[in-house]
Amino acid sequence: MKRLAVLGSTGSIGTQTLDIIESHPDEFKVELLTAYNNVDQLAAQARKHNPDTVVIVNEDHYKVLKDRLSDLQVKVYAGISAVEQVVAQAGIDMVVAAMVGFSGLRPIIRAIETGKDIALANKETLVVAGRIINELVLKYGVKIIPVDSEHSAILQCLAGETDNPVEKITLTASGGPFRHYSIDRLYNVKPEEALKHPNWSMGNKITIDSASMMNKGLEVIEAKWFFDLRSDQIEVIIHPQSIIHSFVHFSDGSIKAQLGLPDMRLPIIYALGYPNRFHTDLPRFDFRQYNKLTFEEVDTKKFRNLALAYKALEKGGNLPCAMNAANEIAVDAFLSGNIGFMQMTELIEKIMSDTVFMQKPGIKELEETDRHSRMAALEYIKKQT
Ligand code: MG
Repeated sequence: MKRLAVLGSTGSIGTQTLDIIESHPDEFKVELLTAYNNVDQLAAQARKHNPDTVVIVNEDHYKVLKDRLSDLQVKVYAGISAVEQVVAQAGIDMVVAAMVGFSGLRPIIRAIETGKDIALANKETLVVAGRIINELVLKYGVKIIPVDSEHSAILQCLAGETDNPVEKITLTASGGPFRHYSIDRLYNVKPEEALKHPNWSMGNKITIDSASMMNKGLEVIEAKWFFDLRSDQIEVIIHPQSIIHSFVHFSDGSIKAQLGLPDMRLPIIYALGYPNRFHTDLPRFDFRQYNKLTFEEVDTKKFRNLALAYKALEKGGNLPCAMNAANEIAVDAFLSGNIGFMQMTELIEKIMSDTVFMQKPGIKELEETDRHSRMAALEYIKKQT
């Protein structure tokens, strides 16, 4: 029985993780649930899964949550520092890190320091602090397993290949809803259109990132840290059907791919059970229904975010951190109608070029870069509107 903490339990990955846990009661038990704002859903989840502890990050909801759960044994806390504290407690084997954005960094570090394995859905963590996280993972001897479907695919392709050199990997991208739009048209797309992803059902932040190709950019950087690759070993190809989740090319010229229906519950259960596979009743793939799997080059003139991410990866240091912070602000501003779709890229590029570069930032310097980049991004938006 694996005892789990689910950070970000009311988000898209969090709820799908709880679905998986519910259907595998002999394998997994929930000990800790944390959510940012959604107190109703968190209370309902606590009632169903009977965890040891729940935390609501937004402290305004503490009293409501406490009242709702007053008839249960569960411990109830509030605030981000509470997440950091409870994630350290004994009786947790694996932490599912499914909260959105940079704010996930501190709790994940704390979990690693206290010997927990990590199922990582929060890609921003590795993007911003990949070097530091990898050093800690080595030092504390824990496992960090990707939940992202592309990285899960690569991990599955690498099974049994320990000593075999990887020539390169190919990350697949659906291309999002705007793959065939002209640049002119992209200037005018609305948040509602960007939130309609053709294949995957995901949270708002990642769905916008998918439409803008920033998601793939973040994944390129994430892949560097997960699999110790150089930027010239990571390529991206558009694969609109989202059936092949990624490829690994080996030095003999052979290629492995991992396939499956686009359903996040597959990479989630692989991460939870790693290296074992558990039975699921999820829909099965049928080749007859997909008699054409196609591939296209990414247009980085149209989707410049991907080019920016490669630039951040190659330069390294605190640049991916600045890029990520600017992107989080850009996505928020786009969703609230304050900037246009293409302005997101302009904003990110501006913040990256203004960043005071640091080659080997520690956590404090990264937090400073994050804070500064967010402020600069908000300032820039204010001037534009
Ligand atoms: Mg992905």
